[in-house]
Amino acid sequence: MGKPKALVDRELCLACGGCISVCPQSAISMHGMRAFVTREKCISCAICIRTCPVGAITGEVY
Ligand code: SF4
Ligand code: SF4
Repeated sequence: MGKPKALVDRELCLACGGCISVCPQSAISMHGMRAFVTREKCISCAICIRTCPVGAITGEVY
């Protein structure tokens, strides 16, 4: 078991792209006009969580 990974709430995401530009792992991409985290790439740094303007990204350990 690793750390919990970032998860995007598709209902809240505005597709602004902010999280995609800050992720150091390039773990986030657009899928169907919503941000999507590739869990295998995420290192649980929480930068995307602090960046999202609408609080659409969560993760248990942050
Ligand atoms: S927690 Fe860090 S590595 Fe994981 S998706 Fe967010 S910015 Fe990328
Ligand atoms: S920063 Fe938030 S609103 Fe913007 S694309 Fe990422 S999850 Fe969606």
